Amino acid sequence: MKPLKNHQAIFLALLLLTVTIHLASGQDLYRRRSGNIAAPVSAPHLQNWLNAQEHSMEDFFEVDVSFSTFDDGQNPNAYALWTEPGDGKVVFGESLLLHYLIEGESGKWSILSVMAHEYGHILQRERGIELEGRALELHADFLAGYYLGKMLPGSLREQARSVMAASFFDFGDYWRSSPGHHGTPQERMLVALEGFSRSNMCLEEAFDFGADFARYR
Ligand SMILES: [Zn+2]
Repeated sequence: MKPLKNHQAIFLALLLLTVTIHLASGQDLYRRRSGNIAAPVSAPHLQNWLNAQEHSMEDFFEVDVSFSTFDDGQNPNAYALWTEPGDGKVVFGESLLLHYLIEGESGKWSILSVMAHEYGHILQRERGIELEGRALELHADFLAGYYLGKMLPGSLREQARSVMAASFFDFGDYWRSSPGHHGTPQERMLVALEGFSRSNMCLEEAFDFGADFARYR
């Protein structure tokens, strides 16, 4: 290999720096921002875990969704985006992810609650459900509860159920007159718990039952 000229060396250094920064901002997210955690989840482990949840939810809800994280800064949040059949996207804020990850193992049930709620929204759009506003949100809560109730193994069910209930309670709001009202803390928790308890139903039944349940809350 010939010695590099100055401008070539600078270009190479910048290229390496760019690649390093890119990797740090994505895959190393958890380790970078949680230095005070005793046993941080390694970044590849976290990425693998998120990928596994993504595939599990796609299979379960029978939807084709691209999942990614984004920089939600000071406004922790997650969204479902949908423009046409088969073009669903779920984006999960990095701040929200970290907020739950620092709670340890139990925080994962909260992450699943949020993810399943968003995947529920994609299923609603795919099926053209006739609900809106608060009822639409409560139906997504029901579907999230249904997912957790159906997917979690027996030994972890009770713990997961409690964490999920507390998470949905926290998601609630009292802005009843606002178009952005998603349901009160009590409503969101109760609807998610109802979904959790319906693991005997198939997805078809649960979807319709949940729609009626949310509509008449
Ligand atoms: Zn929602």
